[in-house]
Amino acid sequence: MITLAVELWPTTVPAPQIIPKDDLRELIRLRENDKLPVTIETQFQRRPLFDNTMTKLFEPLRIKDISLRNRIAVSPMCQYSSVDGYPNDWHLVHLGSRAVGGAGLVVIEATAVSPDGRISPADSGIYYEDHVESFAKIARFLKQHGACAGIQIAHAGRKASTNKPWDGNDHIGKEQGGWDTIAPSAIAFGGKLDKIPREMTLDDIARVQADFVSAAKRALAAEFECLEIHFAHGYLAHEFYSPLSNKRTDAYGGSFKNRIRFHMETFAAVREVWPARLPLLARLSVNDWDEGGVTLEESIELVKQLKAAGLDMIDVSHGMVTPNENIPWAPGMTIAFAARIRREVDIATTTSWLITHAKQAEDALQAGKLDMVMLGRELLRDPYWPYHAAIELGSTASRDILPIQYARAVE
Ligand code: NDP
Repeated sequence: MITLAVELWPTTVPAPQIIPKDDLRELIRLRENDKLPVTIETQFQRRPLFDNTMTKLFEPLRIKDISLRNRIAVSPMCQYSSVDGYPNDWHLVHLGSRAVGGAGLVVIEATAVSPDGRISPADSGIYYEDHVESFAKIARFLKQHGACAGIQIAHAGRKASTNKPWDGNDHIGKEQGGWDTIAPSAIAFGGKLDKIPREMTLDDIARVQADFVSAAKRALAAEFECLEIHFAHGYLAHEFYSPLSNKRTDAYGGSFKNRIRFHMETFAAVREVWPARLPLLARLSVNDWDEGGVTLEESIELVKQLKAAGLDMIDVSHGMVTPNENIPWAPGMTIAFAARIRREVDIATTTSWLITHAKQAEDALQAGKLDMVMLGRELLRDPYWPYHAAIELGSTASRDILPIQYARAVE
């Protein structure tokens, strides 16, 4: 019976419609007796048992050499639970639960490329060689449970050195574990983030870009299969992009070409070390919602250039570079931006922001506005959102989303 899974899903023929209950029981028995090799178990979980092509949400998505079991991704969400950058059991259980819950892609939180790139002292980081094994443990678990393991790498720029959100989200001084911040220009974000950053020298820029490259290499060593570069939310790259935070007069400021130089150079350097067979994404705030800020038209041009440099999918986000933004909040508010970019740039798109319902996600995918949805808070509220979404959409996927250990619950 060890060969059961292989016989059921030979690679050359389509997956069967249904697994007889007795076979399922046998797989469970083997698992319980510890006789089912992990590789076969993984195969069981990665292969859809049923024909899911009726819904777009549960249709597998191929990006480069990676095939996602569905189009639901866990958006990177900071947990403020690390010490010295190391992820720990909290991250394993938190992220692992979302893989067990059926997400196709799980992206680890904004992970700093250097200690000064952390938002808070409790952020995760991938700047030491021995961070790699801590992340690898998580990446392996995610993959073992059928999800693609992704990670977002980031530098927080002038928004670094804060306390945790539940402690106030304020800038903190060295006596509280904080540090001096850097940014394209010596302008504070404002409000509670009032620390004035040091304007980066050309050496600082080169150092941070090299840190992104080292972080990408470590992410690869940690067995991640999807990498996202954080260019959004008012962090360092966005601070270069926005005329509201970048007042430089050298080659990294002023014109559009100069304001995207940091992105283009960093992206090209990371693409060089991140294998062509693996997806490389970027998250971009496509507008600033503030007068004089970045516009969607500029962002369309930036995405065109990133695509030419090897970008595989754009993760469309918005704002957060100033405290003065005026956002017209509405459900799925960034989907229209993603749709326009998808149409005009001809690139795969994803987005998040107030996407909470299965039908809403399905409609956006069906209409060709997005290729994948990224859920944030909704997946914190419900790690089994993919399972519940399948039920809501009437997809047969509901019967094979949960891991084999939970098969009894869906008989
Ligand atoms: P949501 O759809 O849940 O939107 C949440 C954000 O929008 C919150 O900041 C919320 O403010 C604000 N918001 C929503 N509605 C209104 C409104 N009517 N008026 C004013 N503000 C409003 O977004 P997602 O969960 O999809 O997350 C969006 C992105 O944020 C994702 O890309 C995810 O990666 C990231 N994220 C990061 C987290 C983290 O780092 N810990 C946690 C969750 C998401 P408020 O917070 O004040 O309610």
